Amino acid sequence: MERFDHVVVGAGLIGAAATRALSETQSTVAVIGPDEPAQPLQHRGVFASHYDQGRITRLIGRDPLYSKLAELAIARYPEIEAGSGIRFHSPVGMLIASSPTVPDGHMKRPLDTAREMGREFTLYEAFDRSWKNAFPYLDFPESYRVIHEPAPAGYINPREMVRAQLAMATKNGATRIAETVVTVTREGGDFRLETDRGRLVAAGQVLIAAGAFTPCHSLLPRPLAFGCETETILLARVSEEDARRLQHAPTVIYLVEDREIWDTYMTPPIRYPDGHHYIKIGANSIYDDKPESLEAIGRWFRSGDSDRSKDALVRAVRSLWPGLDFTSFQTARCILSRTPTGYPMVDRLEEGWFVAAGGNGGSAKSADALGRLAAALMRDEPWPKEIPREALRAQSA
Ligand SMILES: Cc1cc2nc3c(=O)[nH]c(=O)nc-3n(C[C@H](O)[C@H](O)[C@H](O)COP(=O)(O)OP(=O)(O)OC[C@H]3O[C@@H](n4cnc5c(N)ncnc54)[C@H](O)[C@@H]3O)c2cc1C
Repeated sequence: MERFDHVVVGAGLIGAAATRALSETQSTVAVIGPDEPAQPLQHRGVFASHYDQGRITRLIGRDPLYSKLAELAIARYPEIEAGSGIRFHSPVGMLIASSPTVPDGHMKRPLDTAREMGREFTLYEAFDRSWKNAFPYLDFPESYRVIHEPAPAGYINPREMVRAQLAMATKNGATRIAETVVTVTREGGDFRLETDRGRLVAAGQVLIAAGAFTPCHSLLPRPLAFGCETETILLARVSEEDARRLQHAPTVIYLVEDREIWDTYMTPPIRYPDGHHYIKIGANSIYDDKPESLEAIGRWFRSGDSDRSKDALVRAVRSLWPGLDFTSFQTARCILSRTPTGYPMVDRLEEGWFVAAGGNGGSAKSADALGRLAAALMRDEPWPKEIPREALRAQSA
């Protein structure tokens, strides 16, 4: 049986980052996780939250902790891009637009965070439309307040970020096994992992970073308070000419006033693997579901009715880009993981058994920091003072 000092389960955003961090020392490291399915509609195994081309990145987070994690991670983007030769960061800036009639939350929290953390931003008060000088192609209701955060805010390509982290990890000697782990058991002083293809791997320590699939299979020593939620995105196709013209447009977080969706987020036109350019818009919706098993999550990815929120998302993207000709609209299905604290969990569950998961819909940007925290815990290194340890503890179910 192959044996490694550290085995990471899950080659997603956090797992790939942890693998790279672990590979920087002398220990032997493997990451076990499948490739993206080539035919998702027929796929019977696990999926992921990073099968997409754009995730918003920003220093002004939901709160100071998210903001700090983002700061630590964003500071390393240049090193990962340079070391891997793979570009994933587009620092186009970001706008947050929100109604002043919403009493709390949407605008107040990021604004408070920006001020507390000393982030660079410009605030446009209600009816001040001067933000349009820089972004004439966008529109929000006149009564909305708007925050602009400059670069390095923008977006990252999550597929490319995973590829970059894994390229650096394997360059450092880490082993990649493109299989799915079905059980983790303790055997003597070691762990034994079995994959869906019957491969057995021994590990001195194990990190579970399986995203929304963390509670599935038999990966944990005890049940954790962990849930997931379906998420629908709309891909609004634009011409190549418009994509070129708008390639430096900012990402947008927008409190849409709609009866079916809220909290929309959007990227500028991005090239997708089919060669076309799409503005991606996502939102929370009244149709979001909370699947509780591997089978139920798989069913959502294969055949869920994501078109239920299509009309609302089309309304939102049309209102945001009033002058733009979209050539088609299609929805895509995704999954978010949720924890009771609202923060990711990065914790030691038992001697040698660790977890780093629970992105709560906002951890792509910070995945490098979360992976590094997990790697530091495994190596018994001191926890960084600026991150409150208790906030990232795993809660038992
Ligand atoms: C539609 C959508 C939009 C989002 N937008 C943003 C955004 O704008 N900004 C932002 O910062 N975040 C965003 N997020 C959140 C972000 O994508 C997640 O927080 C992030 O992907 C979490 O990383 P992860 O490594 O925990 O999970 P994932 O990236 O899902 O990786 C988990 C990996 O584990 C693997 N795996 C699962 N089970 C097993 C197993 N048994 N054995 C081996 N491998 C296994 C999977 O194949 C997968 O590769 C968004 C998420 C979604 C769905």
